[in-house]
Amino acid sequence: RRLALAGERHLPARTRDGHRVALRANVAVAADARAALTTGAEGVGLLRTELPFLNHPAWPTRDQHAAALVPVLRALTGQTVTARTLDFADDKLPPFLAQGGRLGRGLPLMLAQPQAFADQFRSLLGAGAETDLRIMIPMVATVDELRACRSLLHSAAAELELAAPPLGVMVELPEAVAAADGLAREASFLSIGSNDLTCQILGLDRRDPAATPAMAAHPAVLAAIHQVVTAAHRHHRHVSVCGDAAAHPLVTPLLVGLGVDSLSVAPAALDEVRARIRRLRHDTCATTAATALTLRTPEEVWQLVRQHCRPPL
Ligand code: PEP
Ligand code: MG
Repeated sequence: RRLALAGERHLPARTRDGHRVALRANVAVAADARAALTTGAEGVGLLRTELPFLNHPAWPTRDQHAAALVPVLRALTGQTVTARTLDFADDKLPPFLAQGGRLGRGLPLMLAQPQAFADQFRSLLGAGAETDLRIMIPMVATVDELRACRSLLHSAAAELELAAPPLGVMVELPEAVAAADGLAREASFLSIGSNDLTCQILGLDRRDPAATPAMAAHPAVLAAIHQVVTAAHRHHRHVSVCGDAAAHPLVTPLLVGLGVDSLSVAPAALDEVRARIRRLRHDTCATTAATALTLRTPEEVWQLVRQHCRPPL
């Protein structure tokens, strides 16, 4: 079966009624990047840049960033690459931040370390010069934070005499959902981090076994995604989903139905997600998603998707 699905790699992720979804890959290291290209990804929708530093003793220097970035970005020459800036969160925390308690997390932590943040921007601009680079900020809560990031990025670009790449935001906090209209107005694109967003909305810890990708089908999470997609399209912005729910068989049809423009998934999931999209109808996904928004529990939504959007693979 895997072989049969691999046979569709050269075909676009397009539903039976002609609705196109861009299919990108989540990567961290060069081997992932090569796997993404082999499996026919249309570039990278999420490059996780903090993973090489999770056992690091101190803030990475510009050279240390470059050492991690150059191999993966070289493997992606000529490709669209959405590079996420350092996302040190509770579930991905290096020792130098784990001690000391009150240092903060996520984006407030980065904005409190503007030198460390600027070093990463400089390294990304240099290492990504041969790619179609976009930069994405995790854990954004407010438009002011986006502006602060943009100003750091633009200074780094001016200093290197390079054009600043498009700057997008991850929507993975309820605050960002509430601010979606303003974020869509000022960001170049939006990407929904369904792993964190699902936990945040449902009050689950990231490490809770109940925090599965399928829980993104909870009507409260779907309502948030719907709100973000509507805001993005109002401002003619591209909106993607880069959390693991994008590849879940009971959630992919709902995301397609809600009008998400691209899905970014692990390279190992690409063949299956592409094949699934090619067997779905967008009109059916849209009516199913609209009905799902009126339900009360994830179980009811899963049942609905099983009934209407489960093409045999
Ligand atoms: C997410 O939160 O959905 C996401 C893609 O980022 P991470 O899993 O790295 O937090
Ligand atoms: Mg996240």
